[in-house]
Amino acid sequence: MACRKCKFVTTGKVCPVCKSSDLTPDWSGVALVVDPSHSQIARTLGITEKGKYALRVT
Ligand SMILES: [Zn+2]
Repeated sequence: MACRKCKFVTTGKVCPVCKSSDLTPDWSGVALVVDPSHSQIARTLGITEKGKYALRVT
């Protein structure tokens, strides 16, 4: 499942990053962010927490 708000990928029912329950199984592509402050992908997606993120969420 991927969070519609911050695109974080989680197996739970609530997003651990933004605490949103607005999750969707319809997502594609994955970006693994290990160092958000030095990652270009993280900057582009507006990611501040490390973890797994979906590139596209519908
Ligand atoms: Zn979220």
